Amino acid sequence: MQECKKCGKCCEKSGPTLHIEDKYLVVQGKIPPSDLVTLRKGEKALDPKTGEKIILENEIIKIKGKNKTWSCIYLDEDSKLCSIYDSRPVECRLLKCWDIKSIVSLMNKNLLTRELVFQKIPALSDLIKEHDQKCSYKEIRDLLNEIENQTNNKALEKLKEIILFDINIREIVSEKQKAASFMLDLIFGRSLITTMEQLRYKVKYSREEGLVISPYIIDNILS
Ligand code: SF4
Repeated sequence: MQECKKCGKCCEKSGPTLHIEDKYLVVQGKIPPSDLVTLRKGEKALDPKTGEKIILENEIIKIKGKNKTWSCIYLDEDSKLCSIYDSRPVECRLLKCWDIKSIVSLMNKNLLTRELVFQKIPALSDLIKEHDQKCSYKEIRDLLNEIENQTNNKALEKLKEIILFDINIREIVSEKQKAASFMLDLIFGRSLITTMEQLRYKVKYSREEGLVISPYIIDNILS
């Protein structure tokens, strides 16, 4: 029977998506919220079945990657072993790189959500819902289409409002709740400044210069 060779390659590809069965790991602090990131509905993510990027139909919560990759932060680089082995999530327990059937069978099932993680903090759950509604990826894609096809001269202004809302809500929550500032990637997902790259746009922001959005390829500044 084939056995895991503990080469670390699976963990280098990506950390796991969390499922409801993993909630106790977060609640008991075995996996701190600051080590988690939400990929919101409408974001792009790698499909483990095909290896292709897909648009997420539901939000997922993942263990963060290191150094701007998806290589799991709990993978010890030297030993190639898991540093939370006894508390590893259900996907890691099932994963066999030579047979992805069990992992594929879990896809999109019993996903852990922010609503479940923060169910005891209703004010935060409300803020998450408001952010999801105001910063929806569907609306962002629609606005980008309108900008590219020049069918709505208010589209760029609206897109800027959405990105500024995303920036401001993170700043406000960080200022009001120091503890929350370490888990913004879980609470609101990755910032739009980061994820706009998936949509082929660069976003730069500073208080002095404001917001600058430019298409990745042609690199024309939209103002
Ligand atoms: S939690 Fe552990 S087993 Fe799971 S991907 Fe990360 S390093 Fe690998």
